[in-house]
Amino acid sequence: MKKTFLLCLFIICANFHSYADNPIAPSESNHQQACDTGSVRLLADFEASRMDECKNLGDNRFHIIIKPENTPINPSPWYAFKVIADQATDVNVTIKIADKRKNRYLPKISQDMQTWSPQAHRVRGKRLTFTIKATEQPQYVAAQEVINNQYYVDWANKLQAVSQVSHSRLGESAQKRPIYKIESKANTNEWLVILGRLHPPEITGALALFPFVETLLAKNKLADHFRQKFNILIIPNLNPDGVAMGNWRHNAHGADLNRDWVSFKQPETIQVHQYLQGLVAQGQKIKFAIDFHSTNQDVFYTMPTNYDVEDRYFVKHWLNSLDQAMPNFNVIQKPGNRPNNGVSKQYFADNYQIHAITYEMGDETKRDNIIAIANNAAITLMQTMMSDANHNKE
Ligand SMILES: [Zn+2]
Repeated sequence: MKKTFLLCLFIICANFHSYADNPIAPSESNHQQACDTGSVRLLADFEASRMDECKNLGDNRFHIIIKPENTPINPSPWYAFKVIADQATDVNVTIKIADKRKNRYLPKISQDMQTWSPQAHRVRGKRLTFTIKATEQPQYVAAQEVINNQYYVDWANKLQAVSQVSHSRLGESAQKRPIYKIESKANTNEWLVILGRLHPPEITGALALFPFVETLLAKNKLADHFRQKFNILIIPNLNPDGVAMGNWRHNAHGADLNRDWVSFKQPETIQVHQYLQGLVAQGQKIKFAIDFHSTNQDVFYTMPTNYDVEDRYFVKHWLNSLDQAMPNFNVIQKPGNRPNNGVSKQYFADNYQIHAITYEMGDETKRDNIIAIANNAAITLMQTMMSDANHNKE
């Protein structure tokens, strides 16, 4: 009886491993450290894991150090590891960010890497300390929900099964991981472009992109009509190397992909640029673009209404209608113009003379709210893009 039980547990665990492990390419970074006392193990051996150093302090106490992939870097320390014990026991963990950098993300815990809950913790200066009830079944601890490269493929396959979209390869990353695109084709030449995951730890941006896209692809009168009028190009995961390695921000070359849209030195941004240029060369027209990110609050970075783009008040009209649709959500619009900064929003404005936004969700925004905001944002966007209102006037 006991043997069967153990075997089942083993099979379940093995399944978790095969789901999480990266089947494409090994990480080239050195952050896959481990602590092993013989009876307790802390491991960073799955895709998107990160634990740069692990020290065993004795008595089931462990000290983890997290380091950036390279510097200078905008600090968003990412950590993800699992804890396993042969027999149920309390394990005390302290996470320290290298170079006295500030912690950004509050720890979350999961048994299956799908359902996550906040991990009770103490903040001591710049250190995070908590106690985990470790068992034979791995307990996953991470800075945010782990959304790995396979998750995007599974999601796109589900979309393909229920809607008229194609899922195909756009190109590949610096380390030759596939970069995928999802496309919905209309009978017109106008395109909405959606980008995601330029910055790997910005999970709340990913958690917004999924329902936003699903609302655009839903089967109802509004969305059906929208998809007849507008083509949709979705590149949900533009930095698969950074995702696989658990990077704080950069791609495998140590570059910030949301600062590369002027110089185009990185394969990921170059391939998007070439694909869009190819569309335009075929007579297609890029109409609007959204790039999903996360920061410390919910905010929409826009181009100013006095900037030289078509339909100058279009984004303002859209976000005002989102504000009206959600009385309990305060829509913050922050217009900005940063030429030569290499941000995707500015690239769309300067190359296609159109509006674009950076859609930022707060790191700790309630996950239900992220979904509600995304659903309403997608509905009001479709309404605004299809309305006859004059968007050149306030
Ligand atoms: Zn970002």
